[in-house]
Amino acid sequence: MKKKWLFTPGPTPIPSEALLAMAQPIDYHRSEDTVTLIKDVLTKLKHVFQTENDVLFLTSSGTGGMEGAVANLLSRGDKVIVIRSGKFGERWADICTAFGIQIIPIDVTWGNAVEPQTVETLLTENPDIKAVFATLCETSTGVLHDIEALARLTRTRPTLLIVDAVSGLGADDLQMDNWGVDVIVSCAQKGLMTPPGLAVVALNQRAWDAVECSDLPKYYFDFRKAYTSGLEGSVPYTPAVTLLTALQCALNRIYEEGIHNTIARHSRLAAATRSAVKALGLSVFAASPANTVTSIRLPEEVDGKAFINLMLDKYGITYAGGQSQLSGKIVRIAHLGWVNENDVIVAIAAFERGLVEIGYDIPIGAGVTAAQEVFRSFKY
Ligand code: PMP
Repeated sequence: MKKKWLFTPGPTPIPSEALLAMAQPIDYHRSEDTVTLIKDVLTKLKHVFQTENDVLFLTSSGTGGMEGAVANLLSRGDKVIVIRSGKFGERWADICTAFGIQIIPIDVTWGNAVEPQTVETLLTENPDIKAVFATLCETSTGVLHDIEALARLTRTRPTLLIVDAVSGLGADDLQMDNWGVDVIVSCAQKGLMTPPGLAVVALNQRAWDAVECSDLPKYYFDFRKAYTSGLEGSVPYTPAVTLLTALQCALNRIYEEGIHNTIARHSRLAAATRSAVKALGLSVFAASPANTVTSIRLPEEVDGKAFINLMLDKYGITYAGGQSQLSGKIVRIAHLGWVNENDVIVAIAAFERGLVEIGYDIPIGAGVTAAQEVFRSFKY
């Protein structure tokens, strides 16, 4: 088998103990062991969400959690603000529209974060706004949004802040309780180091009050069913039991490291990657870059798609390319989940080598040196 390296912002590498746990004989989902497993997973998720609120899970990818948030929090006739600064902000808008919700979009140039002032102005002009939909890390551009600033605007108003932290959870700081975020949606295959197939969602009391009033249609993604079952270590439908065993192993890692240290590690890895990019004479695409993924603007003469293909076919290295309007123009290197300094060194060394091979002249080794310098400057 060819050796492979995965540097994509999901799926991310799975720790060995999680892979081994999934190889054990599968359990009945109503067994005592599964009840214990579900309770343990839901308790440990609170630590990652930095909340005292209960967390619920769904058997779906992250988008199922997003759809559930719209279907469970909103009602017919609601008006919402959607921040669209990339592919995933667009997804919030698409889901709201599919459910007949009136959206007021804030379109932000890709590569930038929303100005909280813009949101504040709209909220003041439209006091009947039910919710603001935001994205922690806009994975398509690598931008980090200032969720704390947005929460300052919503927590004093009758407006919910609903955050897609699908890629950012566990990598970029997101303090649900301290900041006053109402709803957070994430999933298994990113910072939670588990194969795809589980969505995780946390709601505070304000959000649950909205759930009680919601009249939009829902069945499989009914949050009340998932929540009340989860409290008992149970599930309304057959869950992805195997993935839950992997998630438990991954959560144990975060629990042992401590969420603040986990975020600090991602911050170091991201700082080193950005420093490497600059040392190579290239630039980071995101104006306010996330810890989750670094998006690198490619020089005009480099064919981004050919570069990504070369790296995969010849070296077994998977980077993510650009999506939609950024197709072929950026490369995204994730440093997300089960990753450390050495992974970043491999990602950068290979990136340098690939660029040279494709005919673009860069000071080979400069990126690795810059990254090493960043690592040296941190005390461990
Ligand atoms: N939101 C963000 C920010 C994402 O990065 C992704 C996945 N790349 C999604 C939503 C969609 O998640 P999924 O593919 O698990 O449905």
